[in-house]
Amino acid sequence: MTALLQVTGLTKHYPGRDGVVQALRGVDFEVGYRETVALVGESGCGKSTAAMTLMRLSEPDSGSVTLGGADLGELARRDRRALGKRLSIVFQNPYSSLDPRQRIRNIVGEPLKTAFGLSGRPLEERVAELLEQVGLTAEQMRRYPHELSGGQRQRVAIARSLALEPELLVLDEPTAALDVSVQAQVLNLLQDLQERLDLSYLLITHDLSVVEVMAARVLVMYLGRIVESGPVEDVFGSPRHPYTRSLLDSIPIPDPRLRAQLKPPLGEAPSPLNLPAGCAFAPRCPRASERCKGEDPALAAEGRRAFACFHPLEKEFVP
Ligand code: ADP
Ligand code: MG
Repeated sequence: MTALLQVTGLTKHYPGRDGVVQALRGVDFEVGYRETVALVGESGCGKSTAAMTLMRLSEPDSGSVTLGGADLGELARRDRRALGKRLSIVFQNPYSSLDPRQRIRNIVGEPLKTAFGLSGRPLEERVAELLEQVGLTAEQMRRYPHELSGGQRQRVAIARSLALEPELLVLDEPTAALDVSVQAQVLNLLQDLQERLDLSYLLITHDLSVVEVMAARVLVMYLGRIVESGPVEDVFGSPRHPYTRSLLDSIPIPDPRLRAQLKPPLGEAPSPLNLPAGCAFAPRCPRASERCKGEDPALAAEGRRAFACFHPLEKEFVP
């Protein structure tokens, strides 16, 4: 069976005063039916740009995105609302993504009004149902965002994203702005919803513990490219790309004795404005050779894994 979401050769640049940022440099990946795929990488590597171009909130320079075989670029041009019935996005910050002047009823009901022309009693009933689905009460539809807690606000954002019954949710750091105790509750909710509604998730996060809890597969992104992908237990248990190794080593560890055993931190990423000719990780890579400085390795599959490296780490036994 083919995947639900297929992304091929996605590129996007941003012109700026200081030069051109190559935010996406040919990104390929898939998300299966009812699958959660995590997208990880340092800040600025292009994760949100990938989300925005998938959603067609920003037009990619090139590449194709299909969902269940339908071309999303074409769909967005023809009928923006039809796109919303197929996929939807939840942003990191429910403070800024929810209109503070609107009651929850309007925030969650707005897509139902515009896409289905719902109003009055049927609209109210559907909003109540959506709120209950995310663990809120129908009574809360009368409230404004500022009257709710951070976790409740993110639940409202999720309810809104589910209004048109999409097949895929793009979750861009959905719990990063929440307290740790609330994060787990929202992640639980997302897992429940996935089961109940047969959803697929593309989960963007910089928190590798979130990946372990939520995702079956992970995509590791570095300066606009996927450099490693595969099942989470394989990629985290035995990374092949030196960048993935560094990313795992850079997880903050509270115990100072353990921290002392860690490898030195990665250091600054090269500017996305002046990328080196070869592998963009070469300037920071302990294994880089002359070849890496002149030639950019392609992402090549090895079993269920794929990595883009001329000098991959040894495969370790993953229990
Ligand atoms: P991430 O979500 O992984 O932190 P982004 O996709 O937000 O990364 O950004 C990727 C690169 O593109 C960064 O160098 C960022 O500064 C740049 N960028 C993102 N959005 C814009 C924009 N609207 N205009 C110009 N540059 C942008
Ligand atoms: Mg981002």
